[in-house]
Amino acid sequence: MTTSPLSDADAVLFGNRFATREVPSRTFPEAGMTAVEAMRLVAEDLALEGDPARNLATFVTTWMEPEAQRIIADNLHRNFIDHAEYPRTAEIEQRCIRMIADLFHAPGETTGARTQGSSEAIMLGALSLKWNWRTRREAAGKPTTSPNLVFGGDVHVVWEKFCRYFDVEPRIVPLAPGKYTIGPEDVRPHVDENTIGVAAVLGTTFTGHKDDIVGINDLLIQIRQERGLDVPLHVDAASGGFVWPFLYPDSAWDFRLEQVRSINVSGHKFGLVYPGIGWLIFRETSDLAPDLVFEENYLGKTDATFTLNFSTGSAMVLAQYYNLVRYGRPGYTYIMRNMQENARVLADKLEAMGRFEVIGQDEEQLPLVAFRLAADEGYDEFDIAWQLSAERGWMVPAYTLPPDAQDVTIMRALVKETLSREHVDTLARDIEEACATLARKGGAHESERRKIVVGPGH
Ligand SMILES: *Cc1c(COP(=O)(O)O)cnc(C)c1O
Repeated sequence: MTTSPLSDADAVLFGNRFATREVPSRTFPEAGMTAVEAMRLVAEDLALEGDPARNLATFVTTWMEPEAQRIIADNLHRNFIDHAEYPRTAEIEQRCIRMIADLFHAPGETTGARTQGSSEAIMLGALSLKWNWRTRREAAGKPTTSPNLVFGGDVHVVWEKFCRYFDVEPRIVPLAPGKYTIGPEDVRPHVDENTIGVAAVLGTTFTGHKDDIVGINDLLIQIRQERGLDVPLHVDAASGGFVWPFLYPDSAWDFRLEQVRSINVSGHKFGLVYPGIGWLIFRETSDLAPDLVFEENYLGKTDATFTLNFSTGSAMVLAQYYNLVRYGRPGYTYIMRNMQENARVLADKLEAMGRFEVIGQDEEQLPLVAFRLAADEGYDEFDIAWQLSAERGWMVPAYTLPPDAQDVTIMRALVKETLSREHVDTLARDIEEACATLARKGGAHESERRKIVVGPGH
């Protein structure tokens, strides 16, 4: 440990002991410190963190209005699960569920749950698929030992996680170079009487596109009519659920489609709330397997709970409600269109450089730009990501796609609310300059460096 020539007493009077000392990091502290000192210690550590405004890797919200931040700060001391003590928060959760169900065209009475994010929502939704499948099989006197779930290689890792944790066989449709989403022809061979459901993605993390949800829905209707198998469709709308209703209101992907029985969405992505908040919405109340709901008598009130977590903050539920009432349909539409417009400007600028291929900008897509080098330049996308971060602090990830498109490397820039036109222009110039630097010095193709370039999955 480095020792300071000054005494602790000097530090207490004039400054901060950790200006010259190593910070506590290994053993449980034997002594405390003043509140100011602790505050400085933590803040100084975080000064080395990446700047969220330049984090174009994340789908998660990095900015909220000051009024929303005030709601959050004022409600950090409320445990969301204490419904008896905080009935208004519980009511506000139900309002959010009803509003989002309405946004997704639920036909009538529905139910759902607030979750920590889409991952918890997907675990719960897929558990309900498994339970409902088992009930159907038991009623028909058939075995319930080998459930399977069908999805594409374009899904988030949470789907494979569910299959492993809850003992379900994953039937994964591989991608191919140039084919980054799936459709009915991919799903058809995998569906059988042990299929608990099919999962389709609205807005993949890889390129921001959607699976052919209409086509998969039609296939499942056909299978129901021809083979008597009623296979539910779950839509993973983690990102797309707050984008499509505003940018593509006439594109059907939700409960307008008959076989869509449940949908998850991350409030902390395009719902524009800070992490962690997600939502699981069922088409009808009966789509939630009743066995998964626990009637708990806790702190004096019986309460029906359907969650994997128990205690959690209520601030983000309140912040979600704030956003829903603050923006409404026109506000969300305005914000989504701004992001889309800036994404198009960035895509055009990248194309004009003559070096990049932009992926699927003319299709329905999340507000992002997915792009790759069109030819061998002597450096690759990982080099560009690295150079851009080193020179300018922009976090723009490079990653390879899932099998069988693993030879395709792409870069992806999220264009969020705070990425103004001026930022887009600057980013485009910085990418151009990063490429010019790399053309002079050449790329460095070490695998070590690639590992630290941030991946796509968040
Ligand atoms: C982000 C994402 C998830 C995981 O969501 P969290 O809210 O981070 O738990 C799942 N699926 C897709 C398609 C996603 O984009």
